Amino acid sequence: MSIAENVARVRAEISAAAAAAGREAAEILLVAATKTNSADRVREAIAAGVDICGENRVQEMLEKNAQGAYEGAPLHFIGHLQKNKVRQVVGLASLIHGADSIALLEAISREACKRGIRQDVLLEVNIGAEPSKSGFAPEEIPAALEEAAGFGGIFVRGLMAIPPICTSPDENRPFFLAMRKLFVDNGRKKYDNVSMDFLSMGMSGDFAEAIACGANMVRVGTAIFGPRDYHKQT
Ligand SMILES: *Cc1c(COP(=O)(O)O)cnc(C)c1O
Repeated sequence: MSIAENVARVRAEISAAAAAAGREAAEILLVAATKTNSADRVREAIAAGVDICGENRVQEMLEKNAQGAYEGAPLHFIGHLQKNKVRQVVGLASLIHGADSIALLEAISREACKRGIRQDVLLEVNIGAEPSKSGFAPEEIPAALEEAAGFGGIFVRGLMAIPPICTSPDENRPFFLAMRKLFVDNGRKKYDNVSMDFLSMGMSGDFAEAIACGANMVRVGTAIFGPRDYHKQT
């Protein structure tokens, strides 16, 4: 299957999931998770109509950006961002999905202020309470939003999560529903620098389930590009 055929199939599945949930397909943004894929393949995905490109690794993103890989689509950073790489990502990625600590928010804000911009971010939630994963605990989100409101260089646009690896998509449903509740509950309160617009969750194996539970941004890699080859980097 070509990338274009895959994107068309994923779009059809998004439409079906949206319709089943009584939602408009147009309100769901398709982020192509482009890690390990060459600039040419990224361009193919953009031509096929993905809404956004999402990269995981800073070095790979810089290399592919230099090759013009993302022309014609917004670029998001969806990986784990280390504080010492903040400088390379702020301003280049229009949205950073994995803001997972106050220290990272502060570092992003400081860098954005230096450049006179405001950086959009999503707070990452460790919704499965997994020790191996980073992110805020659900109960820490109100305090994190409170804190974020004081950082002049960031704008919190919503929440993102990577639920535990499950053997079937419906096993993730409780986690997706918990995320939706967190998104809605925390969206009620007004904070400066916060607008709960995006709920980023769902990947190749479970994006339909995530949409059923309220996701409006899905991050899809394998279903668009096929299995990843981590040895053959760009
Ligand atoms: C790789 C990746 C995805 C996409 O995963 P697939 O299962 O290949 O669709 C989504 N989100 C993040 C954060 C990723 O790193």
